Amino acid sequence: MPLNKNKVLVVGMDGLRFDRLVALAPPVLSSLMASGAYGTSKLPYGEAAAPRTESPGEVVPKAPEPPAAGRVIRSRTDSGPGWSSIATGAWPDKHGVVDNSFTSHQFTKFPDFLSRAKNARPDLVTAAFLSWAALGEHGAFGPAIDHRMVLDGYALTWTAADRQIADAAERHLAETGPDLAFVYLGDTDEVAHALGPHCPEYAAALHAQDAYLGRLLDAVRARPGESWTVLVTTDHGHVDEGGHGGTSAEERTVFVIANRLDADLGGRPLAEPRLVDVGPTALALLGVPLDPAWELDGTPLFNSW
Ligand SMILES: [Zn+2]
Repeated sequence: MPLNKNKVLVVGMDGLRFDRLVALAPPVLSSLMASGAYGTSKLPYGEAAAPRTESPGEVVPKAPEPPAAGRVIRSRTDSGPGWSSIATGAWPDKHGVVDNSFTSHQFTKFPDFLSRAKNARPDLVTAAFLSWAALGEHGAFGPAIDHRMVLDGYALTWTAADRQIADAAERHLAETGPDLAFVYLGDTDEVAHALGPHCPEYAAALHAQDAYLGRLLDAVRARPGESWTVLVTTDHGHVDEGGHGGTSAEERTVFVIANRLDADLGGRPLAEPRLVDVGPTALALLGVPLDPAWELDGTPLFNSW
């Protein structure tokens, strides 16, 4: 009997605070954690004077914070730097995105992990679904991706944009079954900016995204002959009042949840998974070798299951 083909789905939920996720216990994410592996780490950057961040927090980075002792990374804990680090497997001092302007991005030298997969193995089919238009427009998730859907959550409203992204991603996963897919959902961040992460509206946004995730999982589970690994992550947290950019633990704490849908790992811990590890993990699962010349900061969280 032939081995099932390894495939990877990465789902990003913007501004999702891990402590709120644990407290609110949405069913799909909770179940991925219970039968998968997960952990948190702190972003090795943040701007102390960032607006809307009243906590003095910590000065970063300090050894032994990742990536390397003494390496100073100047960046806000914003969405641009976070998603660019997830996309490229490198930190902001390399990919050049230190805020949401994307002005000095280095995506030619540090392309996203879907583009890397495609370049290394043209037979792989890649897809990205983004409700934050900037990620497509500036090339954080670049044009080499086979199927790229980019919506503008600001124009459509984030609830509508996320819904359309989830609908399209569900259909694409069901019908095409790409080898590697990235789906971005943004409403959690929008709500937290407006109302903070402790309100019923934030809980509702998280539960909506959780339900979308459940539909994506159902779509890939229904495909025969494929073994899917799902990674769920976020780009930064939020202060209690809502907002980010600064250096507090609430802003810098991020998480990675990993689950192989056809195996039960029993909720084992992942030791300080970093945003830059997400792409290398996906590439390793697809059998794409990581070239030291890429100068990535991330390493695979595991090479296989
Ligand atoms: Zn964000």
